[in-house]
Amino acid sequence: RSRWSQAAAAKNASKESSKVSKESSKASKAVTVASTAETARDVARQVRREAAAALERQAAALRAEVSSDDDEEEEVAEGDWGAQFSSDEDEDEDAALDAALRGSDTEDEEEGEMRDDDDEDTEEKEAADDEEEEIDEEEAPGVSAPPPSKGPGKLSLVDKMRAKLSGGQFRMLNEALYTTTGDRALDMVQDSPGMFAAYHQGFREQTKEWPVRPLDLCVRWLRTQPSTAAVADFGCGDAELARAAPQTTVHSFDLESDAPGVVACNMAQVPLPDASVEVAVFSLSLMGTDYGAFLEEAHRVLKVGGVLWIAEVRSRFDGSAGHASVSSFLAVCAQLGFVLKGKPDESNTMFFIVHLVKGKGAARAGAKVRGKAGATPGSGLKWPKLKACIYKRR
Ligand code: SAH
Repeated sequence: RSRWSQAAAAKNASKESSKVSKESSKASKAVTVASTAETARDVARQVRREAAAALERQAAALRAEVSSDDDEEEEVAEGDWGAQFSSDEDEDEDAALDAALRGSDTEDEEEGEMRDDDDEDTEEKEAADDEEEEIDEEEAPGVSAPPPSKGPGKLSLVDKMRAKLSGGQFRMLNEALYTTTGDRALDMVQDSPGMFAAYHQGFREQTKEWPVRPLDLCVRWLRTQPSTAAVADFGCGDAELARAAPQTTVHSFDLESDAPGVVACNMAQVPLPDASVEVAVFSLSLMGTDYGAFLEEAHRVLKVGGVLWIAEVRSRFDGSAGHASVSSFLAVCAQLGFVLKGKPDESNTMFFIVHLVKGKGAARAGAKVRGKAGATPGSGLKWPKLKACIYKRR
């Protein structure tokens, strides 16, 4: 709260000082046109007095904010994120600040009359920002839940700013995960402990209003499998699968373990023995640019005859400009030693689901040597690039 409010107060203060100089220049113009020097001086004096009073109010507000800065630590963490993942975030923060400025202007009684060029500029900028958001929504190739039902005026200004910021953080982390390797993602997470709580929460927010979630379909399928089957959930998020599946053994892996039972690791290297599980699940988790290493790892830990269950966002496989199509992706899975079981389930427009069975033969990844941490063990397979899944602004 405090850093934003400080920034807001500072922004107000600078706005006020630009008003002061504008008003003083108005005042000097008034001096030249005034019929008597006496009247002009009065006008100028009055204008300066009002402007100085406004500036003093802003300075007092700023001082009050600085002294009530009690949640410093939280703010530092937020600042760090901003520094680490820039751009998009800044827009959000700017918009939030602008909104805050509009809100806090009520303190200024003269504001109604004193709408100047400055204010108009700000409004134009906001209108342009809004437009950008809409275009974003239309063009984004990703998926999105419907906007939350936020009765207008029900959220406080601070709540709104927070929601906007955390949405921005979620989208940035999400994008970061889709554009880097598993090892780098793990470094990033380890450098900023706690960061992923917000990611998982953001992910839940995005998916909770989907008509069907892949995770629910996975649980439904697992109910048809023996309860003794050992399951490995690759990229488990907050480990909902482990809680909902009827199987006694569910190994949950994710970059950060903020839910009980989750093993924190890069899932290209999970701490499971070879051929130790009957099921490997990837529910919307083929995120890294080296996602092939995740699948090769799944192949390693699966028993022959075990099932690889994958749900992925359909738009990631549109086959455009060097990107994967479902069939080019499945072709490499086949080279790895996975046999397609049935047809890909394409009944859902957002994502598709495949069941693949680890066959006896091929197993090129079975021969791979595990590299030291940080190295990508090469299977020699050429995995086609998957598009990043960018979630829309809400
Ligand atoms: N499977 C869950 C969560 C999906 S979100 C569900 O369907 O609800 C994708 C998850 O994959 C995120 O939690 C992300 O942290 C995780 N992830 C991405 N890359 C990873 C990696 N290299 N190692 C471990 N987890 C990873």
